[in-house]
Amino acid sequence: MRSFAAVEAFRGAENLIRVVGHRGARGILPENSMIGFEFALETGAHLLEFDVVLTGDEIPVITHNHHLHAPTFRGADGQFLTSEPRIRTLTCAEIQRYEIGRLDGASAYGQRFPDQAQLDGVTVPRLAELLNLVSQPQHSAAYLMLELKSDPDLAGDAAHRQRLVDIIIQEVRTTGLTNRVLLHSFDWNLLAECQRQAPDIPASYLTQLPENADDVGEASSKAISPDFTGQESRIPDLVSEAGGRLWCPHVNDVSKQSVQRARELGLCVAVWTVNTSADINRMIDFGVDAIVSDYPGRVQRILSDRGLYWLDAGDASRPGAKEKDQKKMPLAAQQ
Ligand code: MG
Repeated sequence: MRSFAAVEAFRGAENLIRVVGHRGARGILPENSMIGFEFALETGAHLLEFDVVLTGDEIPVITHNHHLHAPTFRGADGQFLTSEPRIRTLTCAEIQRYEIGRLDGASAYGQRFPDQAQLDGVTVPRLAELLNLVSQPQHSAAYLMLELKSDPDLAGDAAHRQRLVDIIIQEVRTTGLTNRVLLHSFDWNLLAECQRQAPDIPASYLTQLPENADDVGEASSKAISPDFTGQESRIPDLVSEAGGRLWCPHVNDVSKQSVQRARELGLCVAVWTVNTSADINRMIDFGVDAIVSDYPGRVQRILSDRGLYWLDAGDASRPGAKEKDQKKMPLAAQQ
């Protein structure tokens, strides 16, 4: 089986479980924002998950829903929105006039993240901005879990699917990051199109069983997910058969047995969205490869307390790594 650097970056090892910053670090900084991504990268969460949607003028931007999400979007008057226009009816310039640095504490969604910093001057980033950031030499250890969001209204439209995938892949290729990106989605038809257009970029398959409640205040993935009825125990096999390299199950859907089965199939298992200490500990006990969390620091803390690592031994951020690297360096370089 072909090996991909972007898959291996998410694979755990003995005493090593990877930490993936969900939408940057949503628990403490505005989601899907450049400041959130920069913070995650600077604090040792080199693996970033984020969501990509196409604007009306066909520019990929980083935001979660297909509409402006009222609890996080503020207009020129500084007020949170009372209606939610669709992203595809707006140009990129129009979308970037809104602020996304605060959460509406009166909303059910806002109440889920009481520790998130409240910032001004933060706007929806273009995909190109994040790709350019990660292209910088200081972020050479960063890898991207790029989630393509599938508009339920257009899920059956093959031409739209081809166009969406084509535009996103072109952006990734333009920045030379094909070996540092995973194409990630709940929409398995979209992932098939990704594999058709870009067999050199690995695909990451998201799953969520229908019996799990949707996350409060968020657009549901259920309309565009495959129907797993009667095949729940075969999900890792289905991912493998579809050509997936990562399996990304919902935290409530995974078991020690399913992780084991995924391993036998050579899949890397990255579980989302793992935020409570109890869930983080449970995922560590299951031996998952990677933990996707709104609180990457919380995951690091628990891993640290348990004597585990989240970075490779050669990573300059890992304790003891600098000393080891220095010993390996030629004498001339140490001066
Ligand atoms: Mg996502």
